[in-house]
Amino acid sequence: MNAKAIPSSFFDELKSLIDTKDLMVDVPEANLHDWSDEQPGKPQCLVTPRTTEQVASIMELCNRYGVAVVPQGGLSGLAGGAVPSENCLLLSLAKMNKIEHLDAVVGTLQVQAGAILQTLQEEAEAAGWMFALDLGARGSCQIGGNIATNAGGNRVIRYGVMRDLVLGLEVVLPDGKILNLLQSMKKNNTGLDLRQLFIGTEGTLGIITRAIVKLHPGVTGANTALIAFDDYQDVLHFLKKAQSSFSGLVSAFEVMWSDYYQTALNTLGKADQFDQKHNYYLLFDIQSNDPKQDYPQFEKLMEEAFEEEVIKNAVLANSDRETQELWELRDCVSEILKINAPTINFDVSVGLDKIGELAAELKATLSQKFPDLITLFFGHIGDGNLHLVAGPVVGGLTTEHAIETEVYRITKAFFGSVSAEHGIGLHKKKWLRHSRSEIEVSLMQTLKAAMDPNKIMNPGKVLD
Ligand SMILES: Cc1cc2nc3c(=O)[nH]c(=O)nc-3n(C[C@H](O)[C@H](O)[C@H](O)COP(=O)(O)OP(=O)(O)OC[C@H]3O[C@@H](n4cnc5c(N)ncnc54)[C@H](O)[C@@H]3O)c2cc1C
Repeated sequence: MNAKAIPSSFFDELKSLIDTKDLMVDVPEANLHDWSDEQPGKPQCLVTPRTTEQVASIMELCNRYGVAVVPQGGLSGLAGGAVPSENCLLLSLAKMNKIEHLDAVVGTLQVQAGAILQTLQEEAEAAGWMFALDLGARGSCQIGGNIATNAGGNRVIRYGVMRDLVLGLEVVLPDGKILNLLQSMKKNNTGLDLRQLFIGTEGTLGIITRAIVKLHPGVTGANTALIAFDDYQDVLHFLKKAQSSFSGLVSAFEVMWSDYYQTALNTLGKADQFDQKHNYYLLFDIQSNDPKQDYPQFEKLMEEAFEEEVIKNAVLANSDRETQELWELRDCVSEILKINAPTINFDVSVGLDKIGELAAELKATLSQKFPDLITLFFGHIGDGNLHLVAGPVVGGLTTEHAIETEVYRITKAFFGSVSAEHGIGLHKKKWLRHSRSEIEVSLMQTLKAAMDPNKIMNPGKVLD
């Protein structure tokens, strides 16, 4: 239905719903791609509505004509979820980017879905609060996209994933009805929690137009360290030790395997802070209201761990500049992707105790089967989330498929997930069943059919 020619009356009606400057038939190249390498179909047009009511009337029109709608946020997605399907209408939230209300007493923020993540962070900080979601694409991704992908990022270990930060939502359903779930209370046990239908479902069930998110009390800074380990079990021992010492304050636990670390140093042109090479490097943050007061305890944790031979060495940041320099090692992934292009970016999760073993098995298998492939491991290890950048992938889709087959076969054997945080989109659709049972997939299909019987919402994404 979605690939059929669209009658001119559709466009006549569309023009009556939206200002001409918010409707483009020549879709800009930038709206054809996200950060994945998925190939776009040819869209009919791009609309950039300014109000929820406009989104609703556009959806009602598309539903009536059976025109596919692909929601677009900041296009930083890595799974192809926002890539246009053939003949679709692209609906970008870019012009619905207002910060509407910050409740500085309770700590909540109401925004339109197109607001950029970094803007939310800055607004919250200016009011003495913190919006806890943080990830490398903060300057371009939108809160609607973050919610639609249930984004994770650098601080999940302390504050949870996007799902944990959403209090209320406003959503336009595929038939154009506006679903108002803009509540700000934490507790509400009155039947199905309908917000969850739209969090992490990648725009396949509705368009998120507004959100109320939870803020955390402001922190004034962090104690940050780069710590070297040789044994993965020691990384886990240190996590336990740090959590006992700073109950609830461990805010980042990002591990870089040696190959990633050396590549990051080369990419940034930095000298190694350690005089010896190690197997694992941990970027470790304790955020608090008084980092200076916490510093002696932070130092003591390192000294004890060193004496107990849990850690091999550590560099403690002594200024904001030094903290930023340490974080650059972890944040330079986008540059690393370019060096080894074309790459495949894996984003798997397994139980925390299994990550070291999983990475070792993946590395051994891939280097044996694809000797020229460079594999770099890193990730939000405190959350059991391992990233792998593998490249350059020589041999196109056939090699890509062969590499993915190995990675997901091994991940499945560890009872892991094929996507910890980037989502399924187009890119991982064929691997969904590695992580979800037939009963689960069938229930997802039932929900999709009930909510979007004309299959207009982001067709071909996540599910067939
Ligand atoms: C350098 C870099 C670092 C990254 N780091 C992380 C990380 O640490 N953790 C992480 O989780 N992700 C990370 N990502 C992936 C990406 O940033 C996130 O998935 C982000 O949440 C996507 O937001 P977006 O606005 O760019 O969405 P888009 O890419 O535009 O869209 C993503 C999906 O959401 C849907 N969508 C977008 N807006 C809406 C809406 N308003 N209503 C309904 N559906 C919508 C789209 O149709 C698509 O399916 C990273 C990406 C890059 C490039």
